[in-house]
Amino acid sequence: MAKKKDELHCSFCGRGQSEVELLMPGIEGVCICNECAERADELAREYLKQASNSGSEPKFDLKSLPKPAEIKAHLDEYVIGQDDAKKYLSVAVYNHYKRLLQPQDDDVDIEKSNIIIVGPTGTGKTLLAKTIAKFLKVPFAIVDATVLTQAGYVGEDIESLLTRLLQACDYDVKEAERGIVFIDEIDKIGRKGDNPSITRDVSGEGVQQGLLKLLEGSIVNVPPQGGRKHPEQKMIPVDTKNILFVCGGAFEGIERKIAQRLNTHVVGYGTDSKMRRIESSKLLHFVTPQDLRSYGLIPEIIGRLPILTNLEPLKREDLRRILTEPKNAIVRQYEKLMAMDGVKFSVADDALDYIVDKAIEYKLGARGLRSIFETIMMEAMYKIPSSRKKTFVLDKAYAAEQLEKSNFEVLKDVN
Ligand code: ADP
Repeated sequence: MAKKKDELHCSFCGRGQSEVELLMPGIEGVCICNECAERADELAREYLKQASNSGSEPKFDLKSLPKPAEIKAHLDEYVIGQDDAKKYLSVAVYNHYKRLLQPQDDDVDIEKSNIIIVGPTGTGKTLLAKTIAKFLKVPFAIVDATVLTQAGYVGEDIESLLTRLLQACDYDVKEAERGIVFIDEIDKIGRKGDNPSITRDVSGEGVQQGLLKLLEGSIVNVPPQGGRKHPEQKMIPVDTKNILFVCGGAFEGIERKIAQRLNTHVVGYGTDSKMRRIESSKLLHFVTPQDLRSYGLIPEIIGRLPILTNLEPLKREDLRRILTEPKNAIVRQYEKLMAMDGVKFSVADDALDYIVDKAIEYKLGARGLRSIFETIMMEAMYKIPSSRKKTFVLDKAYAAEQLEKSNFEVLKDVN
């Protein structure tokens, strides 16, 4: 288009004042139109974001990286027992971050070591992964494997587990790419039966195949809002090469499988009597990848989870310690809550024993401790802020009275 004489023009796109909504003049006759200004703003923001990301990567160096013993010491503050798993996890996470720092021009390539934790539900699998992620200040997401289905079926696409990770770091892709994903209930996505069935196994093998891609490390298009992929949705490419995957599963009845295998294994060596004396709760120590195969996990998935560790069932004394010892133990939380009202709170030993007894009786495990405790404290938390009390001691008599008043007893029939 011929430029009108004397008309001001955008110095970037060349359009005249009459062709744009707004033309802003700068010094020495330079002008910019509203559209070019908007585009410049977009570009500047993108550039600054990228620059700040690459400037912060990596945010750590080998010297500042906590050593395995330090990671374990931190876990000890929050998680009771589970020493073996803590050690395995600490080493695996430390190596994982060393791997991120490895020089690129090297011949030796440190491979990713995803982790699988086998252990009864409510024994601290999620708590361990969550505590590590918080300590290392990396994005962390928890996903339940049972909600995932093969693309195109009802449920969530596998990629949506990365959506959670992106959401955990405000869509900072670089951050997400070195985060930790905890996939719970991995034992529930086993292949159904050994024969490939006529009806497709959408929640089993299909999911495992999809998961495999993520575990191996590949560039995945992630729907920003999770759920189903929509053709019109703009996908975010995420490289999973450096994302650490921690899988957890109860693998119910696995002790039996281990026992079977150990017995057949040891008979020939004449040590069966020794092996038979192993308590069933200790058998988990001897879990091997082979035992997981009988739960329908495909060998490729097992191969991509090279670090296999186990959690032990929590014993009575562990449950009691969980009430008071971890940094954010429920008793400590109530001490803090009451202190804010100027009340000194304490729990008598017999009340702690009572709560643990009830958690065991109702088969609620560590998870139940909190709900029992909260039920017992409900009335006191309601009354104390408006009373003149300066101390409150929770003893067994009070605990029993409150629990009996509540509807908690009905749980007894359920279990
Ligand atoms: P799961 O093994 O099923 O993932 P979680 O880690 O979610 O179990 O544990 C449930 C809750 O029980 C935790 O939030 C925590 O309060 C408590 N808990 C379980 N195991 C432990 C443990 N070893 N130490 C301290 N608290 C624990």
